[in-house]
Amino acid sequence: MKAACWYGNGDIRVETVRDPTIIDPHDAVVKISLTAICGSDLHIYNGYIPGMEPGDILGHEFMGEIVEVGAKVERVKKGDRVVVPFTICCGKCFFCKTQQWSLCDNTNPNAPVLQKMYGATGSGLFGYSHLYGGYAGGQAEYARVPFADVGPIVIENGLSDEQVLFLSDIFPTGYMAAENCNIQPGDVVAVWGCGPVGQFAIRSAYMLGAERVIAIDHIPERLRMAKNIGKADVIDYSSTDILAELNDMTGGRGPDSCIDAVGMEAHGNGIQHAYDRTKQALMMETDRPGVLRKAIMACRKGGTVSIPGVYGGFIDKVPMGAAFAKGLTLKMGQTHTPKYLRPLLDRVQSGEIDPSFVISHRTTLDEAPAAYEIFNRRENGCTKVVMRPS
Ligand SMILES: [Zn+2]
Ligand SMILES: [Zn+2]
Repeated sequence: MKAACWYGNGDIRVETVRDPTIIDPHDAVVKISLTAICGSDLHIYNGYIPGMEPGDILGHEFMGEIVEVGAKVERVKKGDRVVVPFTICCGKCFFCKTQQWSLCDNTNPNAPVLQKMYGATGSGLFGYSHLYGGYAGGQAEYARVPFADVGPIVIENGLSDEQVLFLSDIFPTGYMAAENCNIQPGDVVAVWGCGPVGQFAIRSAYMLGAERVIAIDHIPERLRMAKNIGKADVIDYSSTDILAELNDMTGGRGPDSCIDAVGMEAHGNGIQHAYDRTKQALMMETDRPGVLRKAIMACRKGGTVSIPGVYGGFIDKVPMGAAFAKGLTLKMGQTHTPKYLRPLLDRVQSGEIDPSFVISHRTTLDEAPAAYEIFNRRENGCTKVVMRPS
């Protein structure tokens, strides 16, 4: 089959590799009909995720038709059309049973490495390095899906692939980011980063009762989408003092919650950004926490900072004193994707939201190298790329 394989920093190649097969009786094989490039794939593309090996198949947002199931698979069957969540979950451990799916204890065969790095491992992830299990990803014609009875959701109605694909990651991720804000009627929510996760965080914040969402970015197309489709007030951070402006917009109190939908590769300006670039280049700091610092500083007393943006390692000069003094709640982590599949599919089905609004580029898997490049540079108004395998 064809697959998008990683060979190093900025080096993606479409190659012919061996077809996946059932290797455990709980597996299924999915023939992929649509897949996407995620912002967090760019962290791999740009060399910030350790544990990659040449030839690894990328991709954790995919859907398709089940073409083969293992002997113990009962809930899904051959011919089912499914969306596959990016977190691989056993369904039986303490964490799965308490709906903390991304913390599953049993799906990362390389757990000891993360246990050393983080004290514990999260669930295995599709196409996201050997630290997370080395599972082949879904930017391919086929994928093996472990624990096929647990994660995948069957799509039975007439919705298009583009309308349901993002249940695999970015819609639940944006939704959980908003849910983590514990939004109360009248709340103001500030969202840093108007990429796809930020866009879904904006929409979700309104769904959960926010009165006003303020979206922050510097890329015109993204700000336009946040304003026109997300109905957010928008701020271009490159031309203003963001903290002063947020204060002005909230009567001097600050937003009730702040969402960092950017994560470790924050862009920015000024001396702190230069400091982070330098330390990151010298491998003295793994992540650039520019947005996290601002979110903590901007948030009102007693508010919540919610972090769906990915962090991988160590960060510097985070204003912990401010977070403490203001009594902030910090919530973060990989998305507990399976928990959100049914409720969010219901919202799509009812017409409340059509997630395909984030797509700017449609291409084929053969064009994956160019698609990565365009998405990475945010060229041609690129907000989100979907790829058909053939
Ligand atoms: Zn993702
Ligand atoms: Zn589990």
